[in-house]
Amino acid sequence: MKIDRVRMNRRGLLKAAGASLIAAGTTTSVGCSDSVKPQAEPGIIGKDGKRVLPWSNWSGNQSCQPSERLIPKNVDELLAILKSGNQNIRCVGSSHSFSALVPTNQTLLSLARLRGIENVDSAAMEADVWAGTRLAQVSKGLWQHGMSPINMPDIDTQAFAGALATSTHGTGKDLGTLSSQVISLQMADARGKLLECSPTMNSDLFNAARNNLGALGVVTKARIKTEQAYYLKEHSWMMSEEEGLARCEELRDKHRHYEMYALPHGDYMLGIAIDKIDPADIPDEPPIESGDAYEAFRMLANLIDYMPFLRSWLVNFGASGVEPETRYGKAYEIFGNLRDIRFNEMEYTVPAEVGPQCLAEILHTIKKQKIPVIFPIEARYIKGDDVWLSPFYKRDGFSISCHNFHDKDYKKYFAAIEPIFWKYDGRPHWGKIHTLAAPEFAARYERFNDFVKLRRELDPDGRFLNDHLRKALGVV
Ligand SMILES: Cc1cc2nc3c(=O)[nH]c(=O)nc-3n(C[C@H](O)[C@H](O)[C@H](O)COP(=O)(O)OP(=O)(O)OC[C@H]3O[C@@H](n4cnc5c(N)ncnc54)[C@H](O)[C@@H]3O)c2cc1C
Repeated sequence: MKIDRVRMNRRGLLKAAGASLIAAGTTTSVGCSDSVKPQAEPGIIGKDGKRVLPWSNWSGNQSCQPSERLIPKNVDELLAILKSGNQNIRCVGSSHSFSALVPTNQTLLSLARLRGIENVDSAAMEADVWAGTRLAQVSKGLWQHGMSPINMPDIDTQAFAGALATSTHGTGKDLGTLSSQVISLQMADARGKLLECSPTMNSDLFNAARNNLGALGVVTKARIKTEQAYYLKEHSWMMSEEEGLARCEELRDKHRHYEMYALPHGDYMLGIAIDKIDPADIPDEPPIESGDAYEAFRMLANLIDYMPFLRSWLVNFGASGVEPETRYGKAYEIFGNLRDIRFNEMEYTVPAEVGPQCLAEILHTIKKQKIPVIFPIEARYIKGDDVWLSPFYKRDGFSISCHNFHDKDYKKYFAAIEPIFWKYDGRPHWGKIHTLAAPEFAARYERFNDFVKLRRELDPDGRFLNDHLRKALGVV
């Protein structure tokens, strides 16, 4: 593997570490078994005699066995489902949340058939997006009309309504979450009634529904504000942790998007700066070799399991081999990353001004407590908004995301880190792992009780609740 042609961004970061180890002649196999045991057919037989498959999320830390799975073909069919019974319903998007928002033992409802973009107004730069549209389809669909989303998260596989439900975000000090790009929204309530909302119509519902947790009803579509289609230049480079922490704000202010990946137990930090670029200024470049990040990254982690005393040395050895890299592309090509390493994640957003300090304390704690984790910690700046349950409500935020491999224990790591987030007045990402309950949310969100009241009015029987939401929203 030639290090200088390996993609040195999120994916390439630890590929370089693995490559360094290969170069050093070290090999370790990832444990696997070749014995195949016959398995019972998964799932249960539903009331229509058909098999209902169990559900689990992307990382595998959440699962359930629903009694039925429904995928309405259109809004009328959705309304008929809501009017026809009083069963418990949980909506599912693309199952990319780590928290237990989705699990139910009753109806699992997907709007995957309500997808696409329509009513595109390229003068006003607005378009309607159906709930089940994957974010990749939103970006590519808008591109056909000469438009791009204002900002995007770092993957684009989420369903549009699933991403809105948890204030999914990218990075950029002047750029808000996906929910902040919404200018009107349509939702079906528990009685099967369609509701419309915008800043001037049902404004309370609008401010609650843009981060709704699937607890208010079923979002069918929303109208979003967009921009003229744009190209991006992404530049990533490794710097010392000290420099990375000292330059956070300078780099945040200098670039449209800026984020960092800090290396636990290391002395380095990867900076990623993304800016718009005129396509005429994009150089002709050979394609970047993609390689297999998963194998190399796992190899590094396995090796550290055997030689924990070499952890810092190995992380620094790998990081020091990372070369700067620049890549160019259409907005959606740069935003949408492939995640070929499965992980579990905790993310909290702290006020922007204390972000670097909080990140430094986390990195220090990991070193001091010798927490066995090497997964890079991602840190991003996001603009404040007015969405009631948004982690960015009325304050610009600095989001810090801690990960561990999906098959490694994340609980001890997250338990050691979570109190640090609390100390800095952090608010958890609703779609990621946290341990908070209603009293803590009430203390963090001034409109929390308004959200709870509105939910009760829209769904008095709690059809859209599950155990996780009852705890989070304080419903007995
Ligand atoms: C690899 C990976 C990368 C990620 N990157 C980012 C990132 O860059 N930034 C970020 O902020 N987050 C990120 N996330 C988190 C993710 O964006 C959120 O958890 C998001 O909510 C997942 O969307 P989903 O479509 O998978 O929804 P699901 O996880 O399936 O559901 C999430 C919520 O949406 C509700 N819901 C779904 N459809 C509807 C509907 N039609 N009406 C009402 N409620 C509905 C569900 O009931 C549930 O409460 C990432 C997650 C993963 C696994």
